Amino acid sequence: MAERVQQPPAKRLCCRPGYGSTCRQGQRAAGATCGGGGSGAGGSASTQGGSSKTQNPESLLDIAARKVAEKWPFQRVEERFERIPEPVQRRIVYWSFPRSEREICMYSSFNTGGGGGEEIGSSGESGDETRLPFRRGIALLESGCVDNVLQVGFHLSGTVREPATSSEPELVCNVSVSFDRCKITAVTCSCGNKDIFYCAHVVALSLYRVRKPEQVKLRLPISETLFQMNRDQLQKFVQYLITVHHTEVLPTAQKLADEILSQNSEINQVHGAPDPTAGASVDDENCWHLDEEQVQEQVKLFLSQGGYHGSGKQLNLLFSKVREMLKMRDSNGARMLTLITEQFMGDPRLALWRQQGTTMTDKYRQLWDELGSMALERSKTKETN
Ligand SMILES: [Zn+2]
Repeated sequence: MAERVQQPPAKRLCCRPGYGSTCRQGQRAAGATCGGGGSGAGGSASTQGGSSKTQNPESLLDIAARKVAEKWPFQRVEERFERIPEPVQRRIVYWSFPRSEREICMYSSFNTGGGGGEEIGSSGESGDETRLPFRRGIALLESGCVDNVLQVGFHLSGTVREPATSSEPELVCNVSVSFDRCKITAVTCSCGNKDIFYCAHVVALSLYRVRKPEQVKLRLPISETLFQMNRDQLQKFVQYLITVHHTEVLPTAQKLADEILSQNSEINQVHGAPDPTAGASVDDENCWHLDEEQVQEQVKLFLSQGGYHGSGKQLNLLFSKVREMLKMRDSNGARMLTLITEQFMGDPRLALWRQQGTTMTDKYRQLWDELGSMALERSKTKETN
């Protein structure tokens, strides 16, 4: 539960306007199987190990949902159409998760030579590479350590078990991932990972969803499910929820109850309520999750080490990551370049050297040159998102 609290707050308020409860009931009955895509082409694949793709042509619903999921923030879909049938919502939500491992690889490993990450897939590498979060994530996935995978709307959660070693006991991590238009937009993991890269557990959970989408339980955004309940069901739902997690949620539950029952409270000034599973709002930026604070912290740390203790090498690795992102036309390339440049500009030694009239060290100058050439490259490329 503590991890859930760290989730970025949902940006938009969901109130499901314009829906009649009668048609809701009808739709529910129609799509009642509720498994990993109980309707449409995806559903049949679940029983046949996913190889049915070549036998069955894709349904029109799936083709359309795939395109919409790629390009449209979900709020726009909701605004455009007064009523979206449940099977359609399910397929849009289904197709909204990233479908390739390429970017997940880019956000969880340094480019250790080679191309854009297409050679991924086996965990048999040796040396340092096995320690990269991406490789470790694949190893965890392939050894069956991912469990309890659940997709609720635009939110994926699961547990990843890190087996015990001779020095460390077994560790079970609660992982969750938010996504929008085929990009992972937020990640949390109870391992407390502090790094520019996604941890191995986030990788393992994400790749599970990419590789076995039909095995993942899929539900509509929670606000949608709540909308289907009547008053008695809602009461039962809340009481059970509080009972299961009473030590953690009771203070919050009481605070919310007080606010809702007080007419002048802030919560009563707006219609609807946040839903962390509801997907993107119209003006949400659509880019991959990048921990900007970590980029700043790490560059600052490497600079303070003055290019010694391998920090020069680390900075060069960061530079090559920026290059890789620019090449992939990922908007985080430019963001990362800006963040790194700001840290370089803010380096206290710069002012000191100017004051003393001394020149910077060769190593340091090389890093500056590198930064300059990247800015030049950046000005020549235009990212697509
Ligand atoms: Zn983790």
